[in-house]
Amino acid sequence: MNIPFLDLKAQYEAIKEEIISVTMEVYQSQSFILGPKVEELEKKVATYTQAKHAVGVSSGTDALLISLMSADIGPGDLVITSPYTFFSTAGSITRVGAIPVFVDIAPLTYNIDPEKLEKKVSTMEAKERSRLKAILPVHLFGQCADMENITAIAKSLGILIIEDAAQAIGAEYKFSDGSLKRAGSMGNYGCFSFYPSKNLGSFGDGGMVTTNDEEILQKLKIMRVHGAQPKYYHKVIGGNFRLDALQAAILLVKFNYLEEWTEKRRQNARIYRELFARKCIEGVELPLESKERHIYNQFVIKIDQKRDELKRYLINQGIGCDIYYPVPLHIQECFRYLGYSPGDCPVAEEAAAKTLALPIYAELRYEQIEYIVEKIGSFLRDKKTS
Ligand SMILES: *Cc1c(COP(=O)(O)O)cnc(C)c1O
Repeated sequence: MNIPFLDLKAQYEAIKEEIISVTMEVYQSQSFILGPKVEELEKKVATYTQAKHAVGVSSGTDALLISLMSADIGPGDLVITSPYTFFSTAGSITRVGAIPVFVDIAPLTYNIDPEKLEKKVSTMEAKERSRLKAILPVHLFGQCADMENITAIAKSLGILIIEDAAQAIGAEYKFSDGSLKRAGSMGNYGCFSFYPSKNLGSFGDGGMVTTNDEEILQKLKIMRVHGAQPKYYHKVIGGNFRLDALQAAILLVKFNYLEEWTEKRRQNARIYRELFARKCIEGVELPLESKERHIYNQFVIKIDQKRDELKRYLINQGIGCDIYYPVPLHIQECFRYLGYSPGDCPVAEEAAAKTLALPIYAELRYEQIEYIVEKIGSFLRDKKTS
């Protein structure tokens, strides 16, 4: 059986007519930069994420960058983030001249560990703490970070929260007072990506920043067009962070299916859990699903040993799978100057060595999931006896 890691062609086949017709509309208009399609998408994403406002930008990376820029975070400032994430989370912090402070993740949620975060903040010297400008939590794989603690810490320090919600559109978090909030609506900024492999993916690059703050909204809109207001009068130094009309038009079509696709991903996760349990497969740790809504951008398992061998084996059996992420950020070559060493974030390092992402997309069929679980089972049984 051949099971791709992500089957975007199957998704396209199902919505092809609609996509072609909407792109033709944009071709006819010959209006490609921002405009009504982008505005319509901004409204939809704001409503969906339960944030007051949304600003379409050129990518998820640029969503992070423009947020940091508009928060006036720059040289000498410190921003706390996770070492276990896509590169651009920390890359963006350094691109504005600030310094990422890595706090290790919690096992199984793969999100920043609230206890370690508290410890890090409480053991910082006053001078260092005064340079701390923001916490940048990542809602990794589609599950929200522990926002209760993060919010409390940010409040007590009077610093900002910039959510990296690139993998978490529609994910929910439940606070202890019972309130349920969506990714991107809890911090000062919410950063989304429409990279093709995200739950809502464009035909290229795209992103969005959400905020509940009217002042931030205005600043983001100016920053997005080189800091100009009006055109050619530059108040601040911004950049070209604009979202294309073509991408917005395609995303508007896909947006109508997002909830259905997300529910199918969640259903597939349930099927994996059932099958792993029913087939009594030992040595596989499944992702922790907390009471909140996980949107499963990735379904990531952890195995005790021989992860790389399992990956090769599955690929030989026709099963697509991938590693997110093989090297945690604190020990990336480009961040050597920050002074971290292996062992500084042990949980992230273990996750990098032992996790594997399995297919989870909406079009995946029951028999395919069954085949994947069976193959993992037979690999692990062979390892045990050999
Ligand atoms: C995809 C992703 C980004 C970057 O988004 P792009 O649109 O590819 O620039 C940032 N952070 C995380 C966690 C991501 O998964």
